[in-house]
Amino acid sequence: MPGMAPPLDVCIRGAGVVGRALALLLARDRLRVGLVAQPPAPSAAADVRAYALNDASRQLLQSLRSWPEGDACTPVDAMAVQGDDGGAVHFRAEAHGAEALAWIVDVPSLEARLAEAVRYQPLVEMLDAPRPAPLTAVCEGRASATRAEFGVDFDTTPYPQRAIAARLRCEGPHGGVARQWFHSDGILALLPMGGSGGHDVALVWSVEQAHAPALLALEPDAFARAVEAASGRALGAMALTSARADWPLQLARADRWTGPMPRANDGKGAARNWVLLGDAAHTVHPLAGQGLNIGLADAAELARLLHGRDFWRSPGDARLLRSYERSRKAGLWPMGFATDGLQQLFALPGRPWQLVRNWGMRGFDTSGPLKSWLARQAMGLR
Ligand SMILES: Cc1cc2nc3c(=O)[nH]c(=O)nc-3n(C[C@H](O)[C@H](O)[C@H](O)COP(=O)(O)OP(=O)(O)OC[C@H]3O[C@@H](n4cnc5c(N)ncnc54)[C@H](O)[C@@H]3O)c2cc1C
Repeated sequence: MPGMAPPLDVCIRGAGVVGRALALLLARDRLRVGLVAQPPAPSAAADVRAYALNDASRQLLQSLRSWPEGDACTPVDAMAVQGDDGGAVHFRAEAHGAEALAWIVDVPSLEARLAEAVRYQPLVEMLDAPRPAPLTAVCEGRASATRAEFGVDFDTTPYPQRAIAARLRCEGPHGGVARQWFHSDGILALLPMGGSGGHDVALVWSVEQAHAPALLALEPDAFARAVEAASGRALGAMALTSARADWPLQLARADRWTGPMPRANDGKGAARNWVLLGDAAHTVHPLAGQGLNIGLADAAELARLLHGRDFWRSPGDARLLRSYERSRKAGLWPMGFATDGLQQLFALPGRPWQLVRNWGMRGFDTSGPLKSWLARQAMGLR
């Protein structure tokens, strides 16, 4: 009928990085995709974060022509993790035969590249509201309303911390090194930005909840002094170059990642199912810089299963979606477990625990295979 929209194969709810990447992956496979976006809040400020993305995420985004180039993307050649009593762990890309341990990507640049790629993909239709489709993919982030509407439990452990993000310019060059300090009252990360020779860093500072408002209220100069002190002046004098933003932190996982749509039957016998991806399915502590890497791996796995399905199976095939759920839940636990364990270990008060964790870090730094395994996991290498 003229004027009638063609039926969708997949309706994706949420146009964050995971939703847009999934839309591009599926459209590349000739599926017709609807992408439901929320209008931006009128007062929305630019995202001051930068994401540490691994090699698997980089390859995926490059294949979608959405990888930011130039100074918006800085390779991490080395990583230095310091404990609160002399313990330290060092990773070098060279030691693992890798081009870089990770890439630090400016979030607004990444979002702009993805939005542009979606605009040029005729099989992706931007929508203001959901439309029926054999498969509904929920990519609405941690506070997903659709997930709640479908009655899915989001098993959440809040951390008594908030993450403060900002950008700073430093006196010394960062040298392509990502630096992290574990203190008993917080975890500070300074991620290199602005290219290999840059002096800019993205800050992620996880601090005790009660401590956050005071840090956010400091004058810019006083805030920069506080970061200098917490980082032992490793990069010299600093100046704040952005607004500050903060996030609550939680470890969470949805109990079910797929199921039938409410009122699943459209009268013609076609089954309709939903599936969760990205932060709507799981959130981890940002200390490991893994949340989005895991979300992009969800999108890659779902696209892989849909690509390989028998020709007679619908994109909303329940069996296929259950195998997505099984494989992604299994891939999730090592990272969730490792980051949760680290944050708990460093939150323990008292000298004995301080000795144990710094002794553990020194041992780990010389542990060869274990260190190498963890580095390869975090880099997204098998
Ligand atoms: C401080 C901090 C630092 C981080 N650093 C890293 C890092 O270095 N590396 C890393 O890999 N990860 C990092 N993360 C995690 C990363 O931010 C998330 O994992 C990632 O943003 C998840 O992407 P998403 O698309 O699933 O969800 P989101 O980014 O939350 O996007 C969800 C989208 O859905 C939209 N939406 C919501 N509800 C609806 C609705 N009802 N209808 C339509 N649209 C809707 C929202 O507007 C949004 O656009 C960090 C997180 C924090 C807080």
